[in-house]
Amino acid sequence: MRVLVIEDERKVANFIKHGLEEERYIVDTAGDGVAGVEMAMNNHFDAILLDVMLPGKDGFTVLKDLRDSGVSTPILMLTARGTTEDRVTGLDLGADDYLPKPFSFEELVARIRSILRRSSPDKSTKLRCGELVLDTVSHLAYRGGREIELTTKEYALLEYLMRNKNRILSRSTITQHVWKHNFDPESNIIDVYIKRLRSKIERDDLKPLIQSIRGVGYRMRETTQDE
Ligand code: CA
Repeated sequence: MRVLVIEDERKVANFIKHGLEEERYIVDTAGDGVAGVEMAMNNHFDAILLDVMLPGKDGFTVLKDLRDSGVSTPILMLTARGTTEDRVTGLDLGADDYLPKPFSFEELVARIRSILRRSSPDKSTKLRCGELVLDTVSHLAYRGGREIELTTKEYALLEYLMRNKNRILSRSTITQHVWKHNFDPESNIIDVYIKRLRSKIERDDLKPLIQSIRGVGYRMRETTQDE
């Protein structure tokens, strides 16, 4: 899942970025409010971490601009100011949650998982599709009782497919949520990763989960027993 961090203190931004990358997120950063709005409008992020005190445009204005423009990405406000008034302002402007600074990294990650769950039909920290289970805390996958180890990219791809199961996803949509930069649409990188993922999660004795949709992309399909 792809996360945008809008934070002007470079040290804090880098700390969050590196930590989230270890947690398998794809992370972009913006150092001021104006750049943050621009990046959020022109890309498809799955969550945004937004600092309140920012140069250019403060966090509340960024939040208001994004919501007024119809950007519905879940937003977690980071605030040094612990007053009730600030929290209420943020929530009323359309923030999904807030976290007062200083915060523990563990809590930040738990809150990101929580806001991602709210926008997903699956409310558990474990995503399921048929007998395939993906644990978003341990980053391990299981199918038919067998543990499957995934690389960072395979995990990011599988998480995105599972959060959007039964939906047909174009290659460009997958790219926008799983890779940081858009690459040549003719590139077969997604197909290469899908192939690797299939070799890990698909089994001859079980129904295939990842369907190829000719000319479009892929779909993670949950089938019922009698299909
Ligand atoms: Ca700040």
